[in-house]
Amino acid sequence: MSNIPEDFKEKIISLCKRRGFVFQSSEIYGGLKSAYDYGPLGVELKRNLMNEWWKSMVHEREDVIGLDASIIMHPKVWESSGHLAGFSDPLVDCLISKERFRADKAPRPNIGEKLPIKCNDKGQAKNYQKIIEDRYEIQLKRDGKTLNGLKIIDKNTFGFFIDNDENAIKTFDYKGYVGPTFGSPFLSDERQFNLMFRSQIGPVDALGQITNYVEKNRDLDSNELRKGIDKIVKESAVYLRPETAQAMFVQFLNCQQTMSMKIPFGIAQMGKSFRNEITTEHFIFRSCEFEQMEMEFFVEPGSQKKWLEYWRDKRISWWKKYANHPENFRYRSHEKDELAHYADACYDIEYKYPWGYDELEGVASRTDYDLKKHAENSGTKLSYFDQQKVDPETGKNGWRYTPYVIEPAAGATRGLLVYLMDAYCEETVKDANGNETTRIVMKLHPKLAPIKAAVLPLVKKEGLPEIARDIVNKLFISGINARYDEQHSIGKRYRRHDEAGTPYCITIDGQTKEDNTVTIRDRDTMEQERINLKDVQTIIQKKLSAS
Ligand code: ATP
Repeated sequence: MSNIPEDFKEKIISLCKRRGFVFQSSEIYGGLKSAYDYGPLGVELKRNLMNEWWKSMVHEREDVIGLDASIIMHPKVWESSGHLAGFSDPLVDCLISKERFRADKAPRPNIGEKLPIKCNDKGQAKNYQKIIEDRYEIQLKRDGKTLNGLKIIDKNTFGFFIDNDENAIKTFDYKGYVGPTFGSPFLSDERQFNLMFRSQIGPVDALGQITNYVEKNRDLDSNELRKGIDKIVKESAVYLRPETAQAMFVQFLNCQQTMSMKIPFGIAQMGKSFRNEITTEHFIFRSCEFEQMEMEFFVEPGSQKKWLEYWRDKRISWWKKYANHPENFRYRSHEKDELAHYADACYDIEYKYPWGYDELEGVASRTDYDLKKHAENSGTKLSYFDQQKVDPETGKNGWRYTPYVIEPAAGATRGLLVYLMDAYCEETVKDANGNETTRIVMKLHPKLAPIKAAVLPLVKKEGLPEIARDIVNKLFISGINARYDEQHSIGKRYRRHDEAGTPYCITIDGQTKEDNTVTIRDRDTMEQERINLKDVQTIIQKKLSAS
């Protein structure tokens, strides 16, 4: 796919609908924005993809175990993970460090005060200095790990000053507060925003309580009123998980102890996640309801870099294994200013979509942040004791520590889109009359293909359908998803299964009755081979397991 045609995305969307891979949700009512249904072929493709992931991450490894947690978890989980902030609180982003914080809790320096930006180290200071210079065209003076030169002029303005000069070189809007960690005044607007879907648990209707509350407190200003309502809502509020990951942290001990796992080990989970995305785009690339395949791999502190590279390599080669164009996959290391606050390193596995390289999976080194936060807020010790190791601090035998975590987090629905794009192929072929025509073929990996074999009687009579049905039943018994198909001409049927990505078509014709042979057609080469009727099952099985 080196030259991607402009209408490539539209071609995929159209094929998805035409063949039953993906439909717009609630289409007959005009559709629901950013929600999709996986049709008869889509559901098979998605399941095959997720089963392959499960096989390689759980069934083929001694050091990874599985989990299937509930979508609704205790609200405290989301409070600890930081996802809950912002529902009732105005949130602001620092435009330099990406720190997100509550405006109402932020430090408020006074008019005339200097605004030093205090970084964690010199490297970070140099990095922030460069970002500010590029974006705002001012060069702050770096003093070790502090950046100087900013001062508050009045309640709405701060400025950039050189040395003791009283005149500002440049001025900017001041919001009245600065970021709590670094003291940066370069901030986004305040937003009342959260990515999580909120719902309610329990029989009491919060709306009734809210109505009473509003009636009794008509004299309150809107801020106070909002706070009161928020308190009522919070009492019964629950949230749909925005990622599958947190369950692996909160069930760390249960999983580790019941299966007697020794570090390093991982807990894997796949399933639905929900995010109220501001921008939903590119078909199923970013939707509000989607599926993820995530694994938290718990390692000894200090070994995280080695394991991060291990999982980065494992995961990218897994994606490439099922692709026709492995050259379209790459990984990219996160820049320092791109890293989430809990991560000490991260790689994105990216695919070359029609709109350019973009994320498919994140492989993050999440430090011990999550386990520590959940331990702190739940009061449960989420640590690991290694009898064989010496505690590096005390020098004594036995080391208790909070494990570090490497997380390969992939999108299953996004992966499905990637493989559809990778498989889509238009070829010029000759039709029965020798005229050139375009054949659309989905060269899906046989392990992913929704239907593995189509069984086609050449005509609907002379006993051919009976033979075909018998083959289909035998394939069913051996666990192969086969499909009987007698509609339309044989040529049309081949084209239909080319578009469905069916790797093998078995045709029953007049000769079958004479010599007990059938033809088997290969989707990609279109070559046909005559094989013995009694060998169909074994041959298909062999071809599938060799792929
Ligand atoms: P992005 O930057 O693309 O929004 P993210 O960095 O927020 O993704 P993660 O939280 O790391 O995503 O989630 C892991 C994976 O889950 C992503 O690599 C992606 O494949 C998938 N994913 C995340 N959000 C969505 C979404 N809204 N729709 C479909 N897939 C998603």
